[in-house]
Amino acid sequence: MIQEKRQQAVIVGSGIAGIAGAIRLTCKGYNVTVLEANSYPGGKLTVLQLGNYRFDAGPSLFTLPHLVDELFELAGKHPKDYFAYDQAETACHYFYEDGTILHFFSDQQRLLEEVKTKLHIDSKPLKDHLKRSKLIYDATHKAFMERSLHRFKSYISTDILKCVAHIPWLNLFTTMHKANEQRLNHPKLVQLFDRYATYNGSNPYSAPGILNIIPHLEHGFGTFFPRKGMHSITTSLVQLAEELGVRFQFNERVEEIMADAKQVTGVRTGAAFYPAEVVLCNSDIKPAYTHLLKKQPKPKKTLTQEPSSSAMIFYWGIKHSFPQLDLHNIFFSEDYKGEFEAIFANKTVSSDPTVYVHISSKKVTNDAPEGCENWFVMVNVPHNQGQDWEALRKQIRISVLEKLSRMLQTDIASLIEEEDYLDPRRIETRTGSFGGALYGASSNDRMAAFFRHPNFSKINGLYFAGGSVHPGGGIPLCLLSAKIATDSVSNVK
Ligand SMILES: Cc1cc2nc3c(=O)[nH]c(=O)nc-3n(C[C@H](O)[C@H](O)[C@H](O)COP(=O)(O)OP(=O)(O)OC[C@H]3O[C@@H](n4cnc5c(N)ncnc54)[C@H](O)[C@@H]3O)c2cc1C
Repeated sequence: MIQEKRQQAVIVGSGIAGIAGAIRLTCKGYNVTVLEANSYPGGKLTVLQLGNYRFDAGPSLFTLPHLVDELFELAGKHPKDYFAYDQAETACHYFYEDGTILHFFSDQQRLLEEVKTKLHIDSKPLKDHLKRSKLIYDATHKAFMERSLHRFKSYISTDILKCVAHIPWLNLFTTMHKANEQRLNHPKLVQLFDRYATYNGSNPYSAPGILNIIPHLEHGFGTFFPRKGMHSITTSLVQLAEELGVRFQFNERVEEIMADAKQVTGVRTGAAFYPAEVVLCNSDIKPAYTHLLKKQPKPKKTLTQEPSSSAMIFYWGIKHSFPQLDLHNIFFSEDYKGEFEAIFANKTVSSDPTVYVHISSKKVTNDAPEGCENWFVMVNVPHNQGQDWEALRKQIRISVLEKLSRMLQTDIASLIEEEDYLDPRRIETRTGSFGGALYGASSNDRMAAFFRHPNFSKINGLYFAGGSVHPGGGIPLCLLSAKIATDSVSNVK
């Protein structure tokens, strides 16, 4: 007879970190219920069907897949029985207005050759730059990404000593752009490496050079793509969670996290009170303090951090195929600095934004009808502060269509047969993320990492995981946040 598990854990939200947290807590012996405001799981990691075209609605770039595999292994399962993916040969195709096209190969030798041939430069500075990115990763990932920055014991580890010993090489006191300008010997490469700041919604002209850790995730470990598209990360993990006994309650918004003195007691929704010894909050941290933890003191520094950028996305079913395009494609702005000034200083969008085109049907052929492609076309924009998004969407659509038609020498508008969009307001409404910011707070300040909310709380039994808390946004870091949060929860005997 199966013994009833006594200890209850409730997860607020079924974003990727919420689902990962549910799996981890179940493996620790808890009886886990996930309460989700939407009618579907996954939060930002969701899907959209337009006619015969399937789109991954949110994330498209997949790195560090072992962090997903790890969850299946933890539960004693074979990851491949649930979730399959392949490494991509090319990280991205980069298009510049002067006609230069760079294929950023995963294989370093091919990449160095490509840069030498297309830019007519010595490829050694690029090789050294990638080496430096690895050095930053090796020196910092254990200390900064894999454990809490907010616990004293984290600071008495050898990993911290290693990190401190490497401070002169971490570029903490210069910006990412300046570090790239000093090391790379071509403005096109500087622009390309500056772009990695956008991987966590930051501005390369103000973010510290330590963010040059990001290229190593792509070029050191490689980029991957799930055989059934990004949304299969959500569906396969939900399948695992349900097999383990996790209960998902959809259309059930948590209204308050309840605590008695210093101990969490459960959560209250419009429908019921759910008692729990452990509550893992996967909601964005700002609305969590505004709505769910109203009676608790507010961490002012954390809540006043500058939000990361958001996105304007057009989902286009394109009745044509473009052999020169890959899974990930970037069409660069000619005024990159102006583009970031528009986003972070002027809270608007430049007239020549960089355009990202992701086409999952390049790998998942069923995602579009034969001879057609599913284009996910994205421009970085500021978080929502009440801008006129209808006007901005019209303006961005015109500049994107002009840019892509010019650079691909094809009239793109006439090829669109299905269309929808996502803007900061929709992201905010659909996922609860403050202002529709993609990654919680930006990393534009060198202290940003320290002001992110910890994965635990002063209230016993209350934990936090997700893109707006430590160690940050993006799928890999969200998965790590769930690990750090639940590592400090004791096993149920
Ligand atoms: C357009 C876009 C592109 C992106 N591109 C990439 C990429 O290429 N690669 C990458 O790694 N990352 C990317 N990201 C970022 C990545 O999607 C996020 O960092 C990650 O998915 C966030 O997961 P999360 O666990 O924080 O939860 P979220 O996805 O933010 O979900 C939170 C969930 O909690 C629910 N919720 C909130 N409050 C409550 C409540 N009170 N009660 C019940 N439920 C509640 C919400 O409804 C939601 O389902 C992108 C994001 C977007 C939007």
